Amino acid sequence: MPHAALTPPGVHPDRVRVLADGVPRATGPVVLWMQQAQRTRANPALAHALAVAALLDRPVAVVLGLTPAYPEATARAYAFMLEGLREVRDELARRGIGFAVGLGDPPEVALAAARRAAVLVVDRGYLRHQRAWRLRVAAEAACPVVQVEGDAVVPVDVASGKAEYAARTLRPKLWRVLEDYLDPVPDASPVRRWSGEPPSVAPFEDVAPALADPVGLRGRLGVDERVAPVSGMFPGGERAAAERLRRLIDDVLPSYADDRNQPQRDGVSYLGMHLHFGQVSPVEVLRGVRAVAEAARAAAAAPAVARDVAGVERGAAGFVEELLVRRELSLNHVERSEGYGTYAALPAWARRTLAAHADDPREHLYDDDALQDGATHDPYWNAAMREMRVTGYQHNYMRMYWGKKVLEWSATPEQAYERLLAWNNRFLLDGRDPNSYAGVGWVFGLHDRPWAERAIFGTVRYMNAAGLRRKADPEAYVRKVEARVAALRGVTG
Ligand SMILES: Cc1cc2nc3c(=O)[nH]c(=O)nc-3n(C[C@H](O)[C@H](O)[C@H](O)COP(=O)(O)OP(=O)(O)OC[C@H]3O[C@@H](n4cnc5c(N)ncnc54)[C@H](O)[C@@H]3O)c2cc1C
Repeated sequence: MPHAALTPPGVHPDRVRVLADGVPRATGPVVLWMQQAQRTRANPALAHALAVAALLDRPVAVVLGLTPAYPEATARAYAFMLEGLREVRDELARRGIGFAVGLGDPPEVALAAARRAAVLVVDRGYLRHQRAWRLRVAAEAACPVVQVEGDAVVPVDVASGKAEYAARTLRPKLWRVLEDYLDPVPDASPVRRWSGEPPSVAPFEDVAPALADPVGLRGRLGVDERVAPVSGMFPGGERAAAERLRRLIDDVLPSYADDRNQPQRDGVSYLGMHLHFGQVSPVEVLRGVRAVAEAARAAAAAPAVARDVAGVERGAAGFVEELLVRRELSLNHVERSEGYGTYAALPAWARRTLAAHADDPREHLYDDDALQDGATHDPYWNAAMREMRVTGYQHNYMRMYWGKKVLEWSATPEQAYERLLAWNNRFLLDGRDPNSYAGVGWVFGLHDRPWAERAIFGTVRYMNAAGLRRKADPEAYVRKVEARVAALRGVTG
């Protein structure tokens, strides 16, 4: 049994894992190392830190490590994140919680803060380097360490103990236990307000004050400015995420089931980028969507609203399938598949069939520049590349098409895989996410099944422009992308 002070009641025990047991230190605050779940609301790790601090009668300090060496980081991603952190800083100050941003390697910053902490609480990250950071901190910290999971609806360890084959194998496992994990997380106040100097992250510099000048801070970090911020179109932070959620519930849900695969329309949530940075809780999103579906059902007796009710219900069901099943299938993939993010980790049947067709003639072969510039013979694909490269977003349906065509137009499937993952993670605001690895993997058969055999693809699913035209309006999509690019250029000058 871990020390009782490390596991107070409150957050669901399945979300809490004591990584390093021990007696809390006699002095110092409870420190939350906030790295994945960058939000102040509905944050189980913050709620748990506050509960531990209440037991120990200590204040709470939140620290974060800011490093220019974050894998594949760009100015676009940093701008979005820093906008969110500025809000976090202001909101924590209002609530009487200390906050510091150490300029340095995140686990080093966490270890520095832990030297003066009673207990260190950490949130959970799913990618390889995020897991390694936490293991290192648990092994070296000078105080007990507790990890709290807050970015999955169903905790990943509860959902499944093995790499799932497809959505259909994970879905029943999630639905079986879902109701256990939907309780709201209270936004409690600290028993002792933080006062005085900001928490120390020495020897690292605390750059929290510099969040007021994100451009200057980015300059100091030296991140890759060639991928420009898109704040005029997609601002970061909890407030922007809440506004996206409100729009989803009020406007998008009734037509989500139909519009989700219509890239020329605006019928999606744009929440992926906020989920990626932990600026919104997936449980809160799910609760919001379910509440509106239930309210619609309750109102269904009135014939005037009956049609809309059916739309909201279908929309909510479709959305929950994406947010819960598809997103948590990605978490399962990176947690349970050794070597995720490499070609070798793709399903054996898919690699076999692609290898059997490796020598098939390719009608179009493009080099990196032609692809990145969106200079192929296919205007739909060019628009998809442009949407991603310039705006930092790409519609889901076009992500699929974009990926399939790169597979078709590359010399080898291995080359296609490298290209897709690199560009996905470089340009998209929601890139570098578990969904990135599952999404790119899907292009090569991951979580899918064999289809009819054809050139280059073998039995891996194929997509073509005729299919796009049949199912959606790609000409209108091209116009939409052009309008967005022009709007963004107008905003950013
Ligand atoms: C080739 C390819 C690459 C992709 N790369 C990424 C990526 O880097 N980051 C990323 O978050 N998603 C990725 N996806 C999945 C999906 O396209 C995006 O999550 C979605 O388009 C994000 O936009 P949205 O929030 O407006 O989606 P919505 O349609 O509003 O969906 C709501 C949420 O459900 C989840 N979701 C939706 N579709 C999927 C899906 N197919 N798989 C897993 N979760 C899903 C996301 O969290 C999303 O935010 C990729 C898909 C493909 C085919």
